[in-house]
Amino acid sequence: MTDQYGREIRYVRISVTDRCNLRCRYCMPREGVKQLAHGDILSYDEIIRLAGIFAGRGISRIKLTGGEPLSRRDLWKLVQGLKAVDGIQQVTLTTNGTLLAEQIDRLADAGLDAVNISLDTLDEAQYEAITRRAELPAALKGLQAAIACPQIRTKINCVPLAGENESQWVPLAAIARDHAVDVRFIEMMPIGLGREYAGRTQDDILKVLRERFGQETALTGEFGNGPGTYVGFAGFTGRIGFISAMTHKFCERCNRVRLTPEGYLKPCLQYAAGVDLRGAMRSGASDEELDQMIGKMIYEKPCSHHFENQEEPGAELRQMSRIGG
Ligand code: SAM
Ligand code: SF4
Repeated sequence: MTDQYGREIRYVRISVTDRCNLRCRYCMPREGVKQLAHGDILSYDEIIRLAGIFAGRGISRIKLTGGEPLSRRDLWKLVQGLKAVDGIQQVTLTTNGTLLAEQIDRLADAGLDAVNISLDTLDEAQYEAITRRAELPAALKGLQAAIACPQIRTKINCVPLAGENESQWVPLAAIARDHAVDVRFIEMMPIGLGREYAGRTQDDILKVLRERFGQETALTGEFGNGPGTYVGFAGFTGRIGFISAMTHKFCERCNRVRLTPEGYLKPCLQYAAGVDLRGAMRSGASDEELDQMIGKMIYEKPCSHHFENQEEPGAELRQMSRIGG
């Protein structure tokens, strides 16, 4: 369906858990994380029911996220259930990759279409400094397993952090030179703990990549679910992408809504506004009633974010691991 600004909404990001086995500094605090109780999180059956209603509204693509989605038991069963929903054409996953190697075969058999692996650095000490866990070998094993899996398209997502992973932009981009993998740089957004970190911009990265790989070519076409922009470098197998909410705002092309682990449907990442679908479902709402709530929320999707205004009224205060990124 289209929202009040004429944007066609066809993509939902579903966060399946607030738990994570890493503690990336810009996403989760070191300790004292208050976790949702198991019963507060939507069950797989509840998520599949909502997916059917989303599909009726023209949403055909689902991204599973978290927290760390692979830390939720038997995620492949959810993938399988979602793929069987009429109208759902694509189910993809965003993960830190550390639990991927042992799950990839089951996920592929369940019909997973693509995986995004979050990897901010290839340097072990830096990885540990950013994620507070010594899990780089496991993440790389996950990446290799994904690259080796022919049914699953693989992307890498890196958040460029000022003063931290600048040395890694070229080695990470080189993975797209050597493999059929898109490497994307995602500008840090001032959400949750992200407010405390300075990111680097698309233009900063392009400048560094040009020095090493030559002039890029702008690519047109749809290469993902979202408003990323892509470039190619000579001799590269994969593409380089940018998701630059701060310096290249793309709200007029935004096509997504978000569902939190506790079943709260959010039409915009920046704003706390949304609707409690879990409460409605558990109080006996019919599919028609849920559909009306979803339709209203999509229609009312805000025109754009205002990340530049730190005092924005109604801004989201939850940390990213509770929203799903
Ligand atoms: N654990 C999974 C992972 O890391 O891919 C899925 C959830 S994580 C919240 C999804 C993505 O959000 C990750 O790529 C992470 O780097 C990104 N992220 C977290 N906080 C962010 C922020 N403040 N600004 C931009 N991206 C952020
Ligand atoms: Fe976990 Fe992903 Fe957040 Fe890192 S970015 S703490 S891996 S949820």
